[in-house]
Amino acid sequence: MYLIALNPNGKKVVNLKAENLVLSLYLRPNTGVTAMRKIEMVDLKVQYQKIKPSIDCAIQEVVDSAAFINGLPVKEFAAELETYLHVKHVIPCANGTDALQIAMMALDLQPGDEVICPSFTYYATVEVIALLKLNPVFVDVNPYTFTIECPEIERAITPKTKAIVPVHLYGQTVEMEPLLALANSSSIPLIEDNAQGIGGNYIFPDGTEKKTGAMGTIGCTSFFPSKNLGCYGDGGAINTNDTETADKIRMIANHGQKERYYHELIGVNSRLDTIQAAILRVKLNHLDEYITARRQAADFYDEAFSNHPKITVPQRAVYGYHVFHQYTLIVQENRDGLVKYLQAYSIPAMIYYPIPCHQQQAFIGRGRVVGDMKNTMWLSDHVISLPMHTELDKEQLIYIAETVLNFFKD
Ligand SMILES: *Cc1c(COP(=O)(O)O)cnc(C)c1O
Repeated sequence: MYLIALNPNGKKVVNLKAENLVLSLYLRPNTGVTAMRKIEMVDLKVQYQKIKPSIDCAIQEVVDSAAFINGLPVKEFAAELETYLHVKHVIPCANGTDALQIAMMALDLQPGDEVICPSFTYYATVEVIALLKLNPVFVDVNPYTFTIECPEIERAITPKTKAIVPVHLYGQTVEMEPLLALANSSSIPLIEDNAQGIGGNYIFPDGTEKKTGAMGTIGCTSFFPSKNLGCYGDGGAINTNDTETADKIRMIANHGQKERYYHELIGVNSRLDTIQAAILRVKLNHLDEYITARRQAADFYDEAFSNHPKITVPQRAVYGYHVFHQYTLIVQENRDGLVKYLQAYSIPAMIYYPIPCHQQQAFIGRGRVVGDMKNTMWLSDHVISLPMHTELDKEQLIYIAETVLNFFKD
């Protein structure tokens, strides 16, 4: 099938669709035809090609060693991530959802205990709370930073509150200093959901910086392939500076045993595969450079869309370093029309997330909602995430930006 459309520059764009292949061609006057690389939401293929020799070698070493479970790269990666995050203990596990679950188990939370969390987040954050028969208490987010903040959290606290889960959503750092003060004064542990925030930091009023995930009682992250530090399958990690808590986390992630076949606790089986750890060791070396590439793409988008009356670009909180896991716009009108329009031009776009967690079917009759959730509801209807990854080139960015702007001109 041929799809011929005029892009905003008046250049013809030809989308050739055959099976799963979509090839977009620019027809440039005078210069002939060149192919633009297919735009992906996340381009892991091209990213892999650039580090292929080191990745292939790392995988081969694991296969040769046959130490598929708890091989040396798992310990090495944990130590390297400890250095990167400036934390005492990193405990790798099977995925980010397990990381959150194990963190809550390690804090000895009991059925009926309340856990304060955003509703505007990925479902896994709140799912584990309910799974452990804890009571999620949903608070609204700041409409510009997309994250939860102190006044609302304070309002949600009761004597039953046993944990707070701030989420560094889209790579935006939660405003941590007031939250740490609140957690401290009320003796409520913080579990940072750092699945989208790894590599980011928080700048304290006195100028000191700390990595996201490394400020709360426990930090949790995910190495799902599309995350900023992604492996080639599932993976996750839990970190803490408290040695006692770290020991408990290690035990819980390993069937509640310290010594093999002597089970002290009810735990789970949650491990990071050696192959994934070997891959992550290679990719951790590139994390900062990947974040720079994401921020450069974000800079380009910002420049294209700021001052547009119908588009709000993602705020970059002054107290943090945004790692742009997602680049999420707020559009005033016809968000769903924009998604379809972009699709027609072979540009993927995603809605993170269309239904707030407190309104998910599974949460009917569960949890407690604090306040009117006005921002959460509004954002769910108005956010759109554009392609964001480490391999976006200028041509693709121009094409995406022009197409978005053209939609609002039509
Ligand atoms: C991805 C993600 C998780 C879960 O991670 P998995 O590795 O997919 O289990 C949890 N919270 C947030 C905010 C996430 O983005």
